[in-house]
Amino acid sequence: MKLPSIIAILTVFLFFTNTISSQNNTLNSAEIIQGLKKLNTVGSVLYIAAHPDDENTRLLGYLANEKKLRTGYLSLTRGDGGQNLIGKEESELLGLIRTQELLAARRVDGAEQFFTRANDFGYSKTPEETFSFWNKDSILSDVVLTIRHFRPDVIICRFPTTGEGGHGHHTASAILAVEALMRPPTLNVFQNN
Ligand SMILES: [Zn+2]
Repeated sequence: MKLPSIIAILTVFLFFTNTISSQNNTLNSAEIIQGLKKLNTVGSVLYIAAHPDDENTRLLGYLANEKKLRTGYLSLTRGDGGQNLIGKEESELLGLIRTQELLAARRVDGAEQFFTRANDFGYSKTPEETFSFWNKDSILSDVVLTIRHFRPDVIICRFPTTGEGGHGHHTASAILAVEALMRPPTLNVFQNN
């Protein structure tokens, strides 16, 4: 086979492989229209709670798609300490599954997903008990980092700071959200000393 023929075949092959790969990443028309509409809306909301299943997917979907706001969910933990009713995975493996479930949910509702390094060690009665297991300063610095990175106009806490949310992780998530919001921007929260 002559060299020009080989080059022609390679060119056609590369054209089709590029076309196929770009098709896989292409937005459909509804997604493009939605993206264009979002360009006309300036505003952002960050929803903060403790566990993957604390999310309110209807609210996140409403904010992201109906109100067209930039929307995020900060789950302090990845749900390692929850129960698994449909499989044998526990602890970190369960947290991995819950993480993937949240990322999949965000691909559907259009919100963004964030986590901290907080470990879901199981049930705790009070935020004081929760903070005896968590390094509060480390988790607080993660919340501050997310807020400063995302720069929300509004923060919604799933639970109150006063304990009516039951689980100590729930109350702790609200306490950390308030403390992170009050943290002076000049203070370096990532300092270790
Ligand atoms: Zn929860």
